[in-house]
Amino acid sequence: MDNIDKLAEYFREFPGIGERQARRFVYFLLSKNPSYLENLSSGIKNIKKEIRQCEKCFRFFTSPEKCNLCFSPNVETDKILIVEKDSDLEALKRSGNYHGFYFVFGGLVPIVEKTTESRVRINELVERIKKDLTPAPTKVGSDPSPSKVEGQLKEIILAFSASPQGEHTDVYIRRTLSPLTDPANIKISSLGRGLSTGTELEYSDKSTLDNALKNRS
Ligand SMILES: [Zn+2]
Repeated sequence: MDNIDKLAEYFREFPGIGERQARRFVYFLLSKNPSYLENLSSGIKNIKKEIRQCEKCFRFFTSPEKCNLCFSPNVETDKILIVEKDSDLEALKRSGNYHGFYFVFGGLVPIVEKTTESRVRINELVERIKKDLTPAPTKVGSDPSPSKVEGQLKEIILAFSASPQGEHTDVYIRRTLSPLTDPANIKISSLGRGLSTGTELEYSDKSTLDNALKNRS
């Protein structure tokens, strides 16, 4: 295996990249000047140093110190929206009409499932919802603080792509969460029903996402 093959192997692991595209990337790099390659490789080297992962929603972010989606004073604490991946979250955030919490699920549940728990954040999601459903203890004699997040959850919105695997993930999460959400009377709605079949969330435009949000059921 020569260096071209070796590098192409790395690119093949990227989402949606096949063998031919992987090799095109390698030849593209060969055509660039040394400073481009230098900047690219130092960017790759430092990516994990500068970027943090939020312990609440699991998204990646660079600044500030705390994730500004989870710790914003303006967040609507009665909703949580669950997406497959960071790029879907970005698309919904850009659309600008959703102001609740987010949660990055980390993947879709394979239809023939074997090791779901290690592939996606189902355990983390269950823990998160449990926490959000438990009212925070209020100290005797103190006013309940309006900034308390716990116990305010009213709706869980599942926002997966309108594909068989997205649909399957939707069903899987509903089934897993229902012992928690049914007794607490928490609504679970799906965004996918407002999207046309095959729609990838991350490539949807603002009005498609706005409509899907409005028509969630
Ligand atoms: Zn966060």
